[in-house]
Amino acid sequence: MKPPRFRYCAPDMLDEALALLDQYGEDAKVLAGGQSLVVVGSIAHADPAAELPALLTCLNGEVVAQSVHGERVMKAEEFFTGYLSTALNPGEMLTEVRFPWIIPQSGWAFIEFARRLGDYALVGAAAVVTPGLDDHCMFAHISYLGISGSPIRMHEVENIIIGTQLDEQTLEQAAEIARSAVSDDMEDVHATVNYRRTLTAEITKRVLRAAWARRKMT
Ligand SMILES: Cc1cc2nc3c(=O)[nH]c(=O)nc-3n(C[C@H](O)[C@H](O)[C@H](O)COP(=O)(O)OP(=O)(O)OC[C@H]3O[C@@H](n4cnc5c(N)ncnc54)[C@H](O)[C@@H]3O)c2cc1C
Repeated sequence: MKPPRFRYCAPDMLDEALALLDQYGEDAKVLAGGQSLVVVGSIAHADPAAELPALLTCLNGEVVAQSVHGERVMKAEEFFTGYLSTALNPGEMLTEVRFPWIIPQSGWAFIEFARRLGDYALVGAAAVVTPGLDDHCMFAHISYLGISGSPIRMHEVENIIIGTQLDEQTLEQAAEIARSAVSDDMEDVHATVNYRRTLTAEITKRVLRAAWARRKMT
């Protein structure tokens, strides 16, 4: 497939780039550099199977969008709006992605499953869990890739594990919640919905166990 002819502009400064985006509106697209795993390019692309959008969602991170009219800051959960879709408006460019620090006592883990090493993952999850002084979970963040059109932070799972020590019964409950959150339309040549549901439940238990095992007590 050949792309139609297009005009390529190479602005040196941000102001110049924003002026061009303002001039061409929806007809303009930013090229991040064409390298795999460019951070801002990956976030702007919003692929539901990509790791960085899921990580940003897990950490409750932010993006900064700029246009000739100014700047706005959006939380990850409001930025990712659906399959390959974001809340960026025509004329806006992402200029910053903010991954917040985690509390030093927190344990974290990122687990994903791909059929071959290096493939896009079918399903993955990022988790951060923070123990309180009584060694029960005080804060929890968990997000998923590959289970819906956009990365998802799963507050229901977080609520189940907060106040517990992530015992096996709690993990089973968390896994069932996550299983039922897989979208019905996540079926493609790589995996059926049921297969993704099974993976999601198992990954939920593994990622939470791994994160909890890495917590640090003061
Ligand atoms: C073989 C292969 C394997 C890959 N495997 C993985 C993988 O396992 N996991 C994974 O997460 N990704 C994977 N990727 C995807 C790749 O990492 C992303 O395509 C890349 O991160 C996006 O960066 P880019 O420089 O290519 O962006 P581009 O292709 O230049 O941009 C992507 C989109 O974002 C827009 N955009 C870029 N920058 C901005 C900006 N600053 N403001 C507004 N819009 C912007 C562009 O207009 C475009 O629509 C893979 C890609 C390839 C080719």
